[in-house]
Amino acid sequence: MKNPIENFIQDFMAYVRASDPHQLEFHQAVHEVIESLAPYLLDHPKYMKMKILERLVEPERVVHFRVPWLDDRGNIQVNRGFRVEMNSAIGPYKGGLRFHPTVTLSIMKFLAFEQVFKNSLTSLPMGGGKGGSDFDPKNKSDMEVMRFCQSFMTELFRHIGPNTDVPAGDIGVGGREIGFLFGQYKRVRNEFTGVLTGKGIEWGGSLIRPEATGYGTVYFAKEMMNTKGESLEGKVVCISGSGNVAQFAAQKVLELGGKVVTMSDSGGFIHDPDGIDPEKLAYIFQLKNEQRGRIKSYADKYGCPFYAGQRPWRIACDVALPCATENEIHEDDAAMLLKNGCQVVAEGANMPCTPEAVHLFLKARILYAPGKAANAGGVAVSGLEMAQNSMRLNWTREEVDDRLHTIMRTIHAMCLKHGQKRDGWINYVDGANIGGFVKVAQAMIAQGVV
Ligand code: NDP
Repeated sequence: MKNPIENFIQDFMAYVRASDPHQLEFHQAVHEVIESLAPYLLDHPKYMKMKILERLVEPERVVHFRVPWLDDRGNIQVNRGFRVEMNSAIGPYKGGLRFHPTVTLSIMKFLAFEQVFKNSLTSLPMGGGKGGSDFDPKNKSDMEVMRFCQSFMTELFRHIGPNTDVPAGDIGVGGREIGFLFGQYKRVRNEFTGVLTGKGIEWGGSLIRPEATGYGTVYFAKEMMNTKGESLEGKVVCISGSGNVAQFAAQKVLELGGKVVTMSDSGGFIHDPDGIDPEKLAYIFQLKNEQRGRIKSYADKYGCPFYAGQRPWRIACDVALPCATENEIHEDDAAMLLKNGCQVVAEGANMPCTPEAVHLFLKARILYAPGKAANAGGVAVSGLEMAQNSMRLNWTREEVDDRLHTIMRTIHAMCLKHGQKRDGWINYVDGANIGGFVKVAQAMIAQGVV
């Protein structure tokens, strides 16, 4: 016989699956949240009566559009564009744009759903959204990327605005793409406004925004380790990815005395047992951000092993920071990390661990932080960028970094409040999900049936 909690989860997931049977990533994200929320909801029936969950899984609006553009040979290319405006109970929709061939509506909805809880945790007034395209910026010229971004924005501009919906970057959308998107928005709207975050520092961007997700993830790991009297000093750290989040996570780990031994991209991972020192990391920044090259070149340059087509989780480490993409730590990867003594996993990426991997980490009671808590630093500094744009002011680097640090500590405290069990163990998954839910749910109730 199933207990009421299991029954509730099963019934609700059947409802979600029936509505959108093929959206597997979205189901996965909802399931993870419902597992945490079920006991809380059964204790607080007002949320059920107000159908808060049913409303949370239904986007307020989904925009799906055609993005035609001309490649360098004059051929017409056609991609799909999306913007999922998930929930605006506590502020304008806020969340990144992803340009990657794997983008589907299911991926957009999972990311937008996660974003609602994450943004709530930051304590800033931001609702949740996400968008993007199946366009692949890899192997495209700057002019092709520009023409694509201009076409994308020529439709998106009518759905967004500084008080409505404020997109940012994500996979495949960095400073270059935000620049092209902003330029086109300004042109068609004839206004200079904070409609995107992650802007260049000369035209409305915030200091520390590029660093924020990676730094914030490491600040969060540091807070978790503090609860055990531990620090990053001397710890061996495995990082996946070598994009925006991975680069700045690595930089902060080095600053705090840790040793980063792996980084990766979709081609495979490098293992540098001597550690990626600041000089080698500077090479990775240049390789990835300027040459737009492959991580394998690091192995060729520094004479260390490169493992094609593999992920780094069989390398022994104290701390693992998955910073590439969803579902990159499977059950066997998690088992290997635990076997090799890993004690801390903080998700720089969104949903990088499969449900089976998460269950292993929770069962082993290691320090495991889900992305909606650990990687919230990026959107938090986006929120600070919006505040600076509204005030037409720029804060200093130190000021933004201090605020980021404080926000990550606040999120950690929120996880403690809602996730600490009677025996003292902290379930950060429960903490983040319940902590993120309460504020949004209260706002939805206050605003009536909308
Ligand atoms: P980037 O595009 O800068 O970097 C992504 C990195 O992940 C690259 O090294 C890329 O390799 C690798 N990668 C992407 N897809 C795959 C794949 N399917 N298999 C293996 N490797 C892959 O993106 P970000 O660093 O911005 O984002 C990384 C993660 O962090 C994502 O999950 C994103 O949603 C999340 N995140 C990002 C935030 C931000 O502020 N940027 C905020 C919060 C979360 P390759 O170049 O070969 O594709």
